[in-house]
Amino acid sequence: MSAFSKTHVDLQAGRTELHDALGLTGAEVSFNCLPAGAGVPFVHSHKNNEEIYLVLAGKGCMWIDGTVHDLEAGDCFRVGTGAGRCIRAADDSELRFVCVQVREGSLKEYTMTDAELTQPEQGPAWLAK
Ligand code: ZN
Repeated sequence: MSAFSKTHVDLQAGRTELHDALGLTGAEVSFNCLPAGAGVPFVHSHKNNEEIYLVLAGKGCMWIDGTVHDLEAGDCFRVGTGAGRCIRAADDSELRFVCVQVREGSLKEYTMTDAELTQPEQGPAWLAK
């Protein structure tokens, strides 16, 4: 498998999933746009995966196990396994968000505990000053 894959997302589209488009192996990522007043028409939960929601634009709300949480651009939140969830755009605003789905408890190292720095000469020309 190549170390690089790329796709382009139509940010106006209702929902675009990246797992197959990018050949993701550890996560599912989706871009979502709910029109004003629209919502996902069901409650769901996940058995093994937590979901991280990143609200990019607009307003709405998220129902989680009976509690409604207001949402606005910039809000980021996690919903763990087993929790019922349902998201909706406000009546007067669309809601754009990214949802990242990863196996709960799977992350062992991240950022600098997983990264290794390489020599500048092995990198892009803009580093070779
Ligand atoms: Zn889900």
